[in-house]
Parts: sequence; structure tokens; C-alpha cells
Amino acid sequence: MNRPEIQVRGLHKSFGANEVLKGIDLEIGRGEVVCVIGPSGSGKSTLLRCVNLLEEPTKGQVFVGGTELTDPDVDIDAVRRRIGMVFQQFNLFPHLTVTENLTLPQRRVLKRDKAQAARVAAENLERVGLSEKATAYPASLSGGQQQRVAIARSLSMGPEVMLFDEPTSALDPELVGDVLAVMRMLANEGMTMMVVTHEMTFAREVADRVVFMDDGVIVEDGTPAQVIGSPRHERTRHFLSRLL
Ligand code: ADP
Ligand code: MG
Repeated sequence: MNRPEIQVRGLHKSFGANEVLKGIDLEIGRGEVVCVIGPSGSGKSTLLRCVNLLEEPTKGQVFVGGTELTDPDVDIDAVRRRIGMVFQQFNLFPHLTVTENLTLPQRRVLKRDKAQAARVAAENLERVGLSEKATAYPASLSGGQQQRVAIARSLSMGPEVMLFDEPTSALDPELVGDVLAVMRMLANEGMTMMVVTHEMTFAREVADRVVFMDDGVIVEDGTPAQVIGSPRHERTRHFLSRLL
């Protein structure tokens, strides 16, 4: 593997007495796409949220691009700018147009001027195929279009890695494909991606690696052919059999 872009070492996370992550070790190389699968409650979202410190690990280390996020002296806002995150819920500002949703964080966080922010917004709207929606309000868009706007908003910040937490789970089935197509394009462009998903076709076709989590541990980590095609562990087999 080339230099790891994301590195998680001995990660533990508890909420009160509930230990949700029980020692996670994971490396993701630059340009690698890793899909994280596993049952509800297994700790997938918590792991993702620890990778950009939306949750503070109880124990262990997280590195992104060689910087230790868990170092108490780190400038967490600066590191977080390098990490894009897309959630199941799109979290667009309803009172702002699509373009304004994309320019506001660039201006606030990156201090870009209006013209530059607008240029970057237009570029990224084009990448997700929504240039014609630039002046629309989120409520007038389909869920799939809103999620593509949310991805474009993330990309406008120029992230080095992208984290996706079940980005298509809230969508009507006929809208899932367009969002996955955008993610596939990003993967082909060499973006480092960590994707929590139940979309096994996407995982098979796009992921370099699939990680199966259960009960706060990584049970299997391998190529899609290994983990989905011929799982070694009973827990993985059981999980996959219930998806079919
Ligand atoms: P998954 O994404 O795999 O469904 P989560 O990471 O969301 O799993 O949750 C794993 C466990 O952690 C669950 O038992 C959940 O209730 C608990 N949990 C997650 N976030 C919090 C929180 N902020 N406070 C307390 N418990 C939490
Ligand atoms: Mg989750």
C-alpha cells in the first residue's frame, strides 16, 4: 500500500458504560476506496465520526494525511477542512439556493471571496450534473439531487478524503443510482474514500477493500471478492445472507 491517508490505531470508543468500538486498527491508502459494512449498531457511524473527530475516541490514535487528529495540540479545524463528510440526511440550508449552500462554507471557513467561491461552486455542481439547479432551493429538488448537492458542497472545500455514512439510505430506490454514479466518478478520479453502505453492488464494483464490522470490532478486511464473495467468518456470512 502507498502511504496511508487514513490510519486508525487501537481505537476504542465508549458512551458511558457502553463500549461501542473495541480496538479498531485500519489503514486506508491514498486513492483507496474502502466500504464498511455490518449490522445496525455495530459501530460503523461511530468509527466514521471518530475519523474526523466528530466523536472523541476514548483510546487510540487517528491519523489523516500524516497528521495525528488525536494529538491534543492539533488544530482540529485545520485538519477537518481536509476531510469531507456526507451523511444520510443531506443537511442543506433550506433558505439558501443551491449555489449559496456551496459558497457559504467556502467563504466562512476558507475565507474565499465571492467570485472565487462561486467559481468553485459552479465547477462542482457541474461535476455532479446539477448545473441547471444552481439557483433552485433544496425543497424543489429530489432527495437524490439534494444528496448530490451535499456532495458538491463537500467537494467545494477541496477535501483530501471523503467519508460517506449511508449516503443513499434515505433515498427512494430509483434515486440511488445517480448518487452512486457520482461516488463512482470520485473513486475513478482517485479520491480516498471511506463509505459506510448497504449497497453491495457498489461495494463489489467500486471498493478496493471491504471491511465487515460487528459488535465494535473489524471481523474481516479484504477485497470485495474475499469479503463479499467468499467470507471466512460465520458472522460475515450470516450478515450477507440477510441482505439477499
Ligand atoms: P451503526 O452505524 O453501525 O449502526 P453506531 O455507530 O451508530 O452503529 O452505534 C453503535 C452503538 O453506539 C449503538 O449502540 C448506539 O446506540 C451507540 N451510540 C452511538 N452514538 C451514541 C451517542 N452519541 N451517545 C450514546 N450512544 C451512542
Ligand atoms: Mg450508522
